[in-house]
Amino acid sequence: MKPSHYNYILSKDSKSYWYNGVSHKFFTLPIELGNKIKPLICNPEILKESAPSFYQKLVDNEFIIDDNVDEIEVIRKRNLETIHSKDYFLVILPTLNCNYKCWYCIQNHIPSMMSQETITRVKKHIDYMIDERNITSLHIEWFGGEPFMYFKQVIAPISEYAIEKCDKAKIPFLNSATTNGYFLSSDKIKDLKRLKFSGFQITLDGDKGNHDKVKFQNGCDSAFVHTLGNIDKILSALKDMNIVLRINYTHKTLTNKIVSQINEYISPENRKQLTITPKKVWQESVDKNFQLSTISILDEFNDYGYNAARMEIVDNFVPCYANREYYNAINYNGGVVKCTACNDLYESNPPGQLQEDGKIEWKNNFDKLYQEKSYENPKCLNCKYLPVCMGICPRDHAKKRNYCKMDAQDSNIETSLIDFIEHCK
Ligand code: SF4
Ligand code: SF4
Repeated sequence: MKPSHYNYILSKDSKSYWYNGVSHKFFTLPIELGNKIKPLICNPEILKESAPSFYQKLVDNEFIIDDNVDEIEVIRKRNLETIHSKDYFLVILPTLNCNYKCWYCIQNHIPSMMSQETITRVKKHIDYMIDERNITSLHIEWFGGEPFMYFKQVIAPISEYAIEKCDKAKIPFLNSATTNGYFLSSDKIKDLKRLKFSGFQITLDGDKGNHDKVKFQNGCDSAFVHTLGNIDKILSALKDMNIVLRINYTHKTLTNKIVSQINEYISPENRKQLTITPKKVWQESVDKNFQLSTISILDEFNDYGYNAARMEIVDNFVPCYANREYYNAINYNGGVVKCTACNDLYESNPPGQLQEDGKIEWKNNFDKLYQEKSYENPKCLNCKYLPVCMGICPRDHAKKRNYCKMDAQDSNIETSLIDFIEHCK
């Protein structure tokens, strides 16, 4: 037997934190005990004799593994399982238009709406994926622009069709959306339930002052108050609904002030349905010390009954959502892309096109770039954090770029692991 190469044994204050990157199992020990046992893990036989039950715990949780296990091969296998998993994640953009204009948004707000013809092609695509590609579940994520600008015209008819088709095929259906929340008024609640919406991601741009500076709409005094008011009504009416509140920040716009401001509009009984996740806007420079400020703000949110997204690490063996065969994003005009975080959606000549029969035609095997293993480079293969990171952006990998993605993030993996273990229920 030998120790796993991906054991992260960390300490903070009075605790020793143990996390294995391949099994994603973890536990804590008092720091004195952790420090005593840590060196023994390199000599599993001695540990087996001196502390047999603890040795067995480490074997069960894959901190100690068989001599003949090649962990890189295990990681490659799990990576392939996720890349080719038949759980289909389909992003649909009813429009590239939006009611707000935020300074950081990469999106040009093109006046646009999915046509009847493209809606028909999307329905055929759902048929094709269920009948011919044998997907095992369908998750539709509405995206934009602001998708709820065209709720009746696009979201409702496609959702109704998908629900019926999945019912007949006896496969699970999930409906969710990334939205600015402006249009999620009480009169939508019945429809959201009927169309099986179970999750939203809604963005705030810092505290009230900052959010209202970034998001402004004629006839609405405060986008911050309006959006949080909508969220609270939805959470009161739909007890299965979970909303991720993404707080986009620069180092100046994220302060503890935001906690009490959100408390004003979200009722205590609804807070457990809301998960807070702060994300640095990409234009902001990196400050590794800032992670402690975000952790302190998340701690405060937890104290008031909200969930906080602590898992800054990868646990499904792919570096990003786009790195999958059964993942596509269909634009309002029938263009198809893989990544929604780049400019492909705005290309006049998109990499994929939805055909009349519902199949997607990709240029130059574009989709295959997103089935590549973007950790297959010496830096990542030798990296201790490989299974909790899984390498760089697949687009950059295709362009043979060489860098460590952690260099661009405020967070560091070890702090994230400790923070995650500390708050895991
Ligand atoms: S990591 Fe790359 S491919 Fe994935 S979402 Fe980000 S930019 Fe797109
Ligand atoms: S991107 Fe950086 S942290 Fe991630 S696996 Fe590669 S070298 Fe390691």
